[in-house]
Amino acid sequence: MVASEIEPLVKTGGLADVLSGLSNAFAKTDCEVTVFLPFYKQVKESKYEFTRLDQPISVQLGGRNFTGSVLRTVIHEKVEVICLENNDLYLRDGLYVDPETGEDYKDNDLRFGFFAKAASAYCKAYKYRPHVIHAHDWQGGLVMADTFFAQDPYFKKTPNVFTIHNLSYQGKFPPESLTTFGLPESSFTSMGVELFGDVSLLSAGISYADLVTTVSEKYAEQIKTPELGFGLENILIGRGEKLIGITNGVDYERWNPEIDPWIKENYTIHNLSGKQVCKNNVIEEFNLPEICCNAPLFGVISRMIEQKGLDLIMDIFPDLMAHGGKLIVLGKGQQNIEQDFLELARNYPESLSVRIDYNEPLAHRIEAGADFFLMPSRFEPCGLNQMYSLRYGTIPIVHTTGGLDDTVKEFSPKLGRGNGFKFSSPHPEALLKAVAKAMDTFGKPRRWDKIRENAMAADHSWDRVAKKYLRLYQQAINEKKKSVL
Ligand code: ADP
Repeated sequence: MVASEIEPLVKTGGLADVLSGLSNAFAKTDCEVTVFLPFYKQVKESKYEFTRLDQPISVQLGGRNFTGSVLRTVIHEKVEVICLENNDLYLRDGLYVDPETGEDYKDNDLRFGFFAKAASAYCKAYKYRPHVIHAHDWQGGLVMADTFFAQDPYFKKTPNVFTIHNLSYQGKFPPESLTTFGLPESSFTSMGVELFGDVSLLSAGISYADLVTTVSEKYAEQIKTPELGFGLENILIGRGEKLIGITNGVDYERWNPEIDPWIKENYTIHNLSGKQVCKNNVIEEFNLPEICCNAPLFGVISRMIEQKGLDLIMDIFPDLMAHGGKLIVLGKGQQNIEQDFLELARNYPESLSVRIDYNEPLAHRIEAGADFFLMPSRFEPCGLNQMYSLRYGTIPIVHTTGGLDDTVKEFSPKLGRGNGFKFSSPHPEALLKAVAKAMDTFGKPRRWDKIRENAMAADHSWDRVAKKYLRLYQQAINEKKKSVL
């Protein structure tokens, strides 16, 4: 696996959870997994111990030589992580964006060009011959193009799989970077690496992988439309059956109210009394008045970016509050969204509390303490928090997009089936309707018990998802064998 994040070493979003959950699930079967990762400052400062391997790696980028050491560690007992070190490139406060300017690092072409090329250089230098190379998002995209064009016998029989976690991050660089990446002129077409006149490393991954996956079935369909294709819809359509949607899973060793070490009291599907204790606790932690303990409590944990549709929540908040709802929000991201939330919270201190922070333990306490979880994302490739919410008996209210639609089932009081509430147009009125239904259910004890039971019983474990990937890897291996005969 070639990826730019993995929990518990470094995380900015769902990619890290996916890498962790999927590799852990593989490692529990008889698969050997090696994950390649840049040796970022955050990784260096993690509590893990690293062994420095003796042979450094050198790669060429735009006629310049870049060298880095290789550090090894093991996570989840069996998952090997190979970190590629280059302090000039990675010893910084941000992963992709400079926190001081809020802008992408100017040398991201070199940073992720080095990363991709060093990962394949490692394989040759250390005589490591994987059965499958699986790269993730634009940061891993060059691996696909690089091994495709290298015509290197070393990789000739090795199939490439590429996963799109979010099509809106495209790894775009000016056309001159074709030389930096060592790609041929012939690749600079819209069916290759060219995107709106630039070189896109996301396009590189999509065009040159043997198989392309994305993180939910619905998103796999949506990205083939102009609305959510972000200019890539045609190459995605062109990949035909080689583009497959596999919905992400949940690591129930980390997200499980029965054993979660970060919540006030553990609870189970058979006895939810601990959930009320968690609710009281999180209300106190967010400095909301004690009276909120009996009100319907809505939770949000999110990167604060346009994609997440948080403005819809702010729009409906006065109505939500007028019907007795309370809201707790944890998030970090765009300053304007952070400021808008903080201002709203100043106006309604009795009903809304906002924490601008990135805080994993607090995220668990919100999952455990809230009654409802709001995810009105404009688009959402898969989304993880709605699945975490289900396991915590916290009822998700979601927009019917991407993985949110695939993983949440609308509750039907008549049939007693379903585990959440959905709305199909990303507008405040539609969200408010779903919220009204949710509050109505909260007020009817038998329905409320039923929906929570349904939610907690849903199974989205990685083990099941990993089996789908293994079948896909086998398909890629078989097809590759045939094509090189
Ligand atoms: P994305 O990858 O677009 O951010 P996902 O729903 O796929 O969205 O994954 C988000 C992950 O990041 C979840 O594990 C979520 O709990 C976590 N997360 C997001 N914001 C925060 C935050 N402010 N504090 C703690 N965890 C967060």
